[in-house]
Amino acid sequence: MNMEAPRARSGRLLVVSNRLPFSVQRSPNGDVELLPSSGGLVSALVGYLEARKQEPGALELIWAGWAGAELSAEETNELRKTALERQGGYPLRLAGADMDRFYHGFCNGTLWPLFHYFPSYATYEEEDWETYRRVNQQYCDEIVEMAQPGDEIWVHDYQLLLLPALLRQRLPDASIGFFLHIPFPSFEVFRQLPTKWRRELLEGVLGADLMGFHTHDYSQHFLHSVFRTLGHEHYLGRINVDGAIKAVETFPIGIDFNRFWQASTSAEVAEIRGRMAAGLGGRRVIFSVDRLDYSKGILHRLRGFEAFLSLFPEYARQVTFVLLVVPSRELVTRYQRMKQELDELVGQINGRYGSVDWVPIVYQYRSVPFAELVALYGLADVALITPLRDGMNLVAKEYIASKPEGTGVLILSDMAGAARELGEALQINPNHTREIADAIHEALTMPAAEQRPRMRAMQGRVKTYDATRWVDSFVSTLHRTKERQGRLATRHLTGAPLADVLERHRRAAKRTLLLDYDGTLVPIAGTPAEAVPDAELITLLRDLQTPSQEVIVISGREHRSLAEWFRDVPIGLVAEHGAWQRDAQGEWTMPKPLPDHWKKQVGPLVQSYVERVPGSSLEEKDYALVWHYRLALDQELAAQRAKELTDDIVTYTANLDVQVLEGKKAIEVRNSGVTKGVAGNAHTAHGPDFIFAAGDDATDEDLFRALPRDAVTVCVGGMHSHATYRLSDYRELRAVLRAMLPR
Ligand code: UDP
Repeated sequence: MNMEAPRARSGRLLVVSNRLPFSVQRSPNGDVELLPSSGGLVSALVGYLEARKQEPGALELIWAGWAGAELSAEETNELRKTALERQGGYPLRLAGADMDRFYHGFCNGTLWPLFHYFPSYATYEEEDWETYRRVNQQYCDEIVEMAQPGDEIWVHDYQLLLLPALLRQRLPDASIGFFLHIPFPSFEVFRQLPTKWRRELLEGVLGADLMGFHTHDYSQHFLHSVFRTLGHEHYLGRINVDGAIKAVETFPIGIDFNRFWQASTSAEVAEIRGRMAAGLGGRRVIFSVDRLDYSKGILHRLRGFEAFLSLFPEYARQVTFVLLVVPSRELVTRYQRMKQELDELVGQINGRYGSVDWVPIVYQYRSVPFAELVALYGLADVALITPLRDGMNLVAKEYIASKPEGTGVLILSDMAGAARELGEALQINPNHTREIADAIHEALTMPAAEQRPRMRAMQGRVKTYDATRWVDSFVSTLHRTKERQGRLATRHLTGAPLADVLERHRRAAKRTLLLDYDGTLVPIAGTPAEAVPDAELITLLRDLQTPSQEVIVISGREHRSLAEWFRDVPIGLVAEHGAWQRDAQGEWTMPKPLPDHWKKQVGPLVQSYVERVPGSSLEEKDYALVWHYRLALDQELAAQRAKELTDDIVTYTANLDVQVLEGKKAIEVRNSGVTKGVAGNAHTAHGPDFIFAAGDDATDEDLFRALPRDAVTVCVGGMHSHATYRLSDYRELRAVLRAMLPR
């Protein structure tokens, strides 16, 4: 990070994407030239900038990315000056990076096909993966170099999945957002990636504070993959990653609606449209435009159109299908093959159905200028948009924005992200040829009186949730996420609040420390053997116990383990959430007699779950039964069964005086009235003037709620808690406890 020019808050939004909104080309004499490029993100951000540029305090936008050519250091510096003036572009110098292998290898040879549900097209080359990692690291180095304190960094798309975490390592406090512009596939597809790559990719994305997707489904797929791969559960889209609360939300990208709307009423576009209409002999027009890509379903669409011609021969000479295909990834063999197939199929259909005075498909393989595109949208009676998979599909929205008169019918694949917002379109399944053919017929016969209300409803939505709104809502959600983290951080027991707590501790004459064990004093362990306290902890607890300071480990564990582990440590112990207690002299007692006959009834029920969920286990305590599923092989099945078990036990034990508690990857049944809250109160009844309680799960919340208001309560690692303070993990807690050691 450039520390020479620190600014408290720069108000800069640093957009990072693979490519800049323009590309650099070398002219024959070796000079570099800038050529503007297009795409959804470009138009969203350009629209946003246009709309915001008059507003005071608007964020300054800097767009960092690759310029598309290897440049010398001098050329890069020179270009940065010109580029910054044009759309705030900032070319990164990725010296020596194998951008070709990066782009065609892991990005478009692995991630693109897999995320668009073409797993059979995906390749898994170690060298591609390593290149992807290296290039992401290079982006990181360049961004860290240029970033200023206070910048908000917004990373885009599948080429940079590792970047958020790489940035986080170097800029721990930065505000980082991430947006994925393609679908996030279901876990069954995502898991095709080798486990190591899968983990690293997800951890990479989770480096961001806010992660955005086009649709609710993609967000859910991502959360699901995070759970299945990394084990992080989410609560309403929030995930706790190493103590920081991250958010996953849905932001369907919009278009610059007004630009299309206004252009479609301009004289220039009217003139082009008139010329085109005459050229097409005044016939009805079906139109589609896409980049050449297998995800776009162009061949399926052609077969659908062919079926339409065959099923409804009365439309011969009446309609023309204008098929515009924009060249893309032309160096890749698969795309070249597809182009060939496309050329052939168009030829076949035109040959079979056309006549001397009528060509059914007017096919163009090129990109078109904006005015021509808007004219084509305007001319089209029907837009036939049939991707097999598409993250969003902006063409569908652009068509709608180019129809001020309100007529025109959109046929849209239900596999496009846009389908979620455009319910009034004729939605089809692109794999079903007949459905496409019938939809074309329905569209051509739909009365204007039906077209208009459908179109107006969609226009209202696309206009309201436009590109500016998309940027605004992402950026403001990123602010909110960061603020929430900040609020949680103010409860972080460090700095001034910690000094204050330690001062109260120092002044107090009698103190009680109530400390949960698993997840609080030690990390959560898979097996009981791994949960044994380490020597450092034993020493710490022993030293904390003094005549004026009582230490009580208050745990849900059964008393035999605690008795053994802390045999020679003269501290108080509470086992089984309060069923048993031991004083500092080592005497075990039960505060009140408890029944255990219910275990005979409930035990077989829990055992049946052990059998049904491989890897789960039953723990029998004196006055509790616990079903553990931390080690279950299928975590999802286990989570589902946990709910069922809870439900079963509640029904089954209606006449028994027991309670069911959901712990961390455990369901516990125990006698009613035995809680850490009751135990904690009993241990503080003698009125110490300083009470400190720390814990990490729901059973500790009972304690926090039961203690007097002036008790210092600390939640370790959790998201939601009644505790006044929080600490990230057991290490931080131990550091606080060390500060309480007698001097
Ligand atoms: N487009 C373009 N050049 C053209 C024709 C269209 O850049 O010659 C634009 C079109 O207006 C749209 C974008 O390309 O904004 C395509 O976006 P979409 O989300 O439909 O598909 P993607 O290509 O991003 O997969």
